Parts: sequence; structure tokens; C-alpha cells
Amino acid sequence: MTNLIFNFDNHFINCLPADPIIENTRRQVVDACYSFVDPTKVKAPILVAYSAEVAQLLELSEQDCQSELFTQVFAGNKLLDGMKPYAQCYGGHQFGNWAGQLGDGRAINLGEVVNQQGQHHTLQLKGAGPTPYSRTADGLAVLRSSVREFLCSEAMFHLGVPTTRALSLVTTGENVVRDMFYDGRPKEEPGAIVCRVAPSFLRFGSYEIFSSRGDIETLRKLVDFTIRTDFPHLGKPSIEVYLKWFSEVCEHTADMIVHWMRVGFVHGVMNTDNMSILGLTIDYGPYGWLEDYDPNWTPNTTDASGRRYRFGNQAQIAQWNLFQLANAIYPLIEQAEPLREILSDYAMSYEQKWQSMRASKLGLTKHIAESDPQLHQSLHEILQLTETDMTIFYRRLANVTCESLDLSDDELITPLLDAYYDADSLTVDTKTAICDWLRQYQLRVQQDGINDETRRQNMNQVNPKYVLRNYLAQLAIDKAEQNDFSMVNELLELFRHPYDEQKDMEHYAVKRPDWARDRAGCSMLSCSS
Ligand code: AMP
Ligand code: MG
Repeated sequence: MTNLIFNFDNHFINCLPADPIIENTRRQVVDACYSFVDPTKVKAPILVAYSAEVAQLLELSEQDCQSELFTQVFAGNKLLDGMKPYAQCYGGHQFGNWAGQLGDGRAINLGEVVNQQGQHHTLQLKGAGPTPYSRTADGLAVLRSSVREFLCSEAMFHLGVPTTRALSLVTTGENVVRDMFYDGRPKEEPGAIVCRVAPSFLRFGSYEIFSSRGDIETLRKLVDFTIRTDFPHLGKPSIEVYLKWFSEVCEHTADMIVHWMRVGFVHGVMNTDNMSILGLTIDYGPYGWLEDYDPNWTPNTTDASGRRYRFGNQAQIAQWNLFQLANAIYPLIEQAEPLREILSDYAMSYEQKWQSMRASKLGLTKHIAESDPQLHQSLHEILQLTETDMTIFYRRLANVTCESLDLSDDELITPLLDAYYDADSLTVDTKTAICDWLRQYQLRVQQDGINDETRRQNMNQVNPKYVLRNYLAQLAIDKAEQNDFSMVNELLELFRHPYDEQKDMEHYAVKRPDWARDRAGCSMLSCSS
């Protein structure tokens, strides 16, 4: 049997206080950052897919990944020397309310791998059985949500969006019972496990839990650990460094949200337990991509009434979450004013980053403060005049010529027609409004002095051709549930190059088909996973 060789340095558990209780019983865990717990063994694991890029980060060969041992290890059936599995303790604000202790209810960290470059990567199994933090749930994950997490993590990485990664996806050979529609009709579904990989899985809620309990000693240990491990350039922990750290967390968070807005990603559950301290997209649940450009859209059925986590609200929610983090670390700083200032800097900094990203999306080399906000605002409006596919629109906008200003309305709008869900019924007023905007855009591009070809190339590196539309993931899931994993692997391959044309893959770059409009999993999703 191939042996898998990892260099483990389990820094997190070596530096931070452990729960002294070893039994795997559900409980409140106090004065500790984690509890030791082993994955539950599964009956008949099968490897569905693995990410070659993540394997490479971990210095695993193709042969390693195809070995039986790999499947057994990443199904949680076998522990390698040096692995010391544990679940983290954290809390969180869910939908605006403090929810108390949550923790890794179905995630089990196997260990931290150090590669030749000295980078640390924690390996974490999601869906590998109950932990002390499982509360009333089973600690398991179903295949459909695991396919979504696996594919999306890797797609996001290749899209250039900060994210946790996914090494592998295995089915367990066991069924899991889920009431997918929360309508009292539970059903058996195939179980699966994803191995997630990240330098750190700490969340805002990891700090909130200690602060909420008045356990300032553990809070300080965890913050100091985070700074030493993941922010070492900030220097030795002190009040000043805590503030610098908070400010950096705000910057990373702003960067992440700007990228979400760029690609049209809606996380769907931006609770503070789902906010990574490194500014990585984490916990892929009922997420989605804007197809029709609707800033009020949320993919999460649980969020349908309040729309707290809607596309257009993500930057504000991130700030609200950062405010909770500021409250959590306040006891270490005991000055509200500098924290408040950093939070208001976040708003400004986000706005700047977003403005410059919007300029890039339009192929402009810079943002002009006097005139561009109006250009962006009108675009935001014309995108909502009729059902418009955001991804296709930006991609096609790159093909609109700006070098000749004497095109008729019909000539001008032709490259964009594919972006409209009902191009045949565009009203004269809508068409005129779109063309008015396009003429403003042409003038702005001319002012910028960039030629059409360069602009097209630049735009096509910022505006993806392929995004993991919910219906695409669902088609791959439908097949996977019939033990046909071909489409999972096809999409994994497709999303390695989301900005390339990929000629034979055009059918994956089309608008959501009508049948997918209201089908479960294809537009909105429940949290059941
Ligand atoms: P999420 O909405 O996925 O971010 O999960 C919120 C909390 O519920 C986290 O503490 C999860 O670990 C926990 N959780 C979600 N699903 C399960 C499950 N099937 N078993 C145990 N814990 C779960
Ligand atoms: Mg979560």
C-alpha cells in the first residue's frame, strides 16, 4: 500500500488550551479552544474527485491521491502518524442574534501539514461524524451539499476569490436522513465527506465565544496565537498590535467582499461563525450566483423574508460582523474610539476598493471620482430594467466596440443580446436606456484612451466566462446521486480556467434554462445539508 507522507506540526493544539474531557458527548466546552475527537468510521468510501492543485500544495502525487489509503484517510477511516483530530469551539451571531456555542459540529481537523515552503495547511473533514459541538444534529453531510462545497471552493480559487480549499470528495456508502424542504418529509440521501484545507479555520465567532463568557484569558491566548501564527509581520502582541490586526482583518474582509461582488457570488449565510479571520470565503451552504442581476436576491430560503444576506447587502453585513468582532476583542483593548475608527475606515476602504474593481469590470484603467459614480449608478439601473444575466452581460460588454461612435442602436446592443432572458421582448424604452448608457460608456472608454482589443482582454480577466450556476451544480449532483461522477469531474476541470473561452464548453456559459427557474437546488436552497 502507498504510504502518504505528511510533515505534521499541530501548532493549534500545541499552543492552545484543550478541553480536558475526552468522551465524545455533546456539551458546553469552557476554557478551551477545542476538543479531541476522532472521525466516525464509514462503511464503504469511494473517492469521487480530488483537486490536483490542492494535492500539489500538500505535496501529494497523483499516485498518492489515487491510492486506497488516500480514500480511507479522507473518509476518516484511517489516521496517519502525526494526526491528532479535534473539533474547534466557537460561537456566533446567526441572522443578527447571538446563538451561543456552535463549534465544529460536523468538522473534524486532522492536523496541520507543513510543506517544503514552510506553509501550514490544516486538513479538515466535513461530515465525518458527531463532535461535542454537534448539538442536536448528526455530524454528517449529504452528497449534494458536499458536491457544492467541493466544486465551489475550487472554482472560487481559480476565479481569484480568497477561499478555503477542498482536497477531496468521498462518498461514505452510508445514508443520511434529511428533511430537505423542512416540510416534515425526511428522506434518505447518500452521505459524503469533503476534506477542506486552509491555513486557519478560525472565525469571528471563535473570539466571540470567549468574550461572551467573560473568559478574557483564553480570548487573549487565542488572539495572540492568531497574530503570531497568521499575522507575524504585525509584531509582538500589544494593544497597538491588536488594533493593527483588527484593521488588517477589516481589509481582508473588504477584499473578499469586493471579489464576491465582482463575480456575482452570494454567500447566503453570513453569520459571524461563517466569517473567516483570514478573509477567506468559508462554509459553502445555500450560496448562489446572480444570474438575473437583482441586488435583492438571496439564494437562502431561510433568508427569503428578511433578505439580510442579499447580494447588495453583503458589504454592510460584513461591517456588522466586524462590529461584533470589535466588541469581542474590546476587553483586550479597552478603548472604543480606535475600534470605531477602524470600522469606519472599513466602509471607506471598501468603497474605494469596490470603485476601482468596478472600473476594472468596465475595462477602465482608473476610477474618476467626479464622473464614474454616475456611470456605475446608471449601469446598476439599466441592469435591472429587464432580466439580465450578470455574468454574460459583462463578458459581452467587452465585445461592444468603443472605437466607432456612429453605430445605430441595433448595432450597438447586438453583442449584449445573449445576456437578456427575453431579448425578443425588450421594449423601445428599455433598448433606448441601454443604448444611452452604452454611448456614455463609449465616451468614457475613449477618455480613458484604451483600445478595444486591450480593453477586451483586460475585462475578460476580471469578468469570468464560467461561474458555478446553481443549476449546473444541481445537474452534477443529479448524476452523482446515480453514482455517475463524470459531471463533477467535468465541472472541476472547467472551473480550473473560468476566464478562458474553452470552445467546447460553451453550453456551460449559458443563461439558466427555464426549467431550472423554480427547481429545488437550481435557484434557491434551504440550509439543509
Ligand atoms: P452552518 O449553517 O453550516 O454554518 O452551521 C452552523 C452550525 O451548525 C455549525 O456549528 C455547524 O457545525 C453546525 N451544524 C450544521 N450541520 C450540522 C450537522 N449535520 N451536524 C452537526 N452540526 C451541524
Ligand atoms: Mg458554519
